[in-house]
Amino acid sequence: MTLKPTTGNADLRQLAVETWGRPLASSSLAALWRCPCCQRNTHSIMMVAADQFRCLGQCRIAGGLLELETLITASAEHVPDDVLVEIGA
Ligand SMILES: [Zn+2]
Repeated sequence: MTLKPTTGNADLRQLAVETWGRPLASSSLAALWRCPCCQRNTHSIMMVAADQFRCLGQCRIAGGLLELETLITASAEHVPDDVLVEIGA
């Protein structure tokens, strides 16, 4: 696995959009996606802000850009193909 150099102005939300599509909900501060680490049937939510992310569900994974890139790389083999659940914007 090759790690990309961390750039100071990278927005984690942009990376998340490119990986998981549009967020379930978003504000100016943070956006929400289904947590890719939790069991699907728990419908756990991951909150992603510009420079950090955090699972609000069971797995409690959290970190910054490096951790998010690692997470995406690790979860790329089993991309969820179910329909995202709308929770309202
Ligand atoms: Zn989780």
